[in-house]
Amino acid sequence: SNLDYAGYLKSWIRTVPNWPHDGVMFRDITPVLQNPKTFRLLIDIFVHRYMDQKIDMVAGLDARGFILGSVLAYELNVGFIPIRKKGKLPFTTVAEEYELEYGNATVEMHTDACKAGDRIVLIDDLIATGGTMMAGYKLLTRLGAEVIETAAIVDLPELGGSKLIKDKQIPLFTICDFE
Ligand code: AMP
Repeated sequence: SNLDYAGYLKSWIRTVPNWPHDGVMFRDITPVLQNPKTFRLLIDIFVHRYMDQKIDMVAGLDARGFILGSVLAYELNVGFIPIRKKGKLPFTTVAEEYELEYGNATVEMHTDACKAGDRIVLIDDLIATGGTMMAGYKLLTRLGAEVIETAAIVDLPELGGSKLIKDKQIPLFTICDFE
């Protein structure tokens, strides 16, 4: 239909085969950000979804989650929490380690970034194995925050992350899938 905004946005995502290494189909959202009409539509889908949800903070995952999350937070008139890769945040942090395809990674958040009971949307560009999103979720819940929803533009259902998250009864919203 002419109201298929999800399909329209999906058509603006560029696939780069074999990047950053062989066998990966990289789903590149930069064309969506580059065009002001698709950037606005993208952000407005998230704003529309959360504007009546009494959200206290938006948390974004390093690095593309910062682009989406900071604009969403600004539009919702709430604060923004950066969840960063290890070693970047200057103040006291909490950390979560998670598994990658090769080895592991750690994300960190400032201990005073949110407070117990805060209603939070956690956002990234894409869900693959779900490891990054789950690590961010654990940091927020360790500080007593309530993650109202995890959100991303793209789900890669074959990699199992969205199922993992939903199986833990954690709400997840994604705009489109790539098989
Ligand atoms: P995961 O932790 O496995 O769910 O991976 C998600 C994170 O890695 C997100 O921050 C994505 O930006 C990035 N990522 C993983 N796979 C892809 C892919 N095929 N295309 C684009 N980004 C990806």
